[in-house]
Amino acid sequence: MTDIPLPNISDPLTAPHWEAAREGRMAMQTCSQCDYVRWPAAIACPECLNEGGVWTPLSGRGTIWSLAVYEQALHPAFEKWCPYSVALVRLEEGPMIYARMLDPPSVLACEQAVEAVFEEITEEFTVVTFRVVSDAT
Ligand SMILES: [Zn+2]
Repeated sequence: MTDIPLPNISDPLTAPHWEAAREGRMAMQTCSQCDYVRWPAAIACPECLNEGGVWTPLSGRGTIWSLAVYEQALHPAFEKWCPYSVALVRLEEGPMIYARMLDPPSVLACEQAVEAVFEEITEEFTVVTFRVVSDAT
């Protein structure tokens, strides 16, 4: 049980993402027509409008494209993390995803290499967070 507000993980559109996170891996839809990797999940490809897509495993590696520091929690359940950062991470495969950073805000900067960390919130729900990698290649 958690007081953190949870997404609908049984929504068929996004369920494969949450299932992958629960298994400690990252997955997003890849367009079967133009190979565009998209996030968030959508019924149709934003590049070519082809419907559907194949859930594809991703490396979980990327770089920080933008950062925000939360000095105050926007929800009482997040107070335990304050201050914390949310980054817009550009993944190696192209898509960008917002995620909480595990590192303290004082050590974070744009362009840093990061890797996904899968944080189990409940038995059913795991969220993708990121941490800085110092030996990125
Ligand atoms: Zn496409």
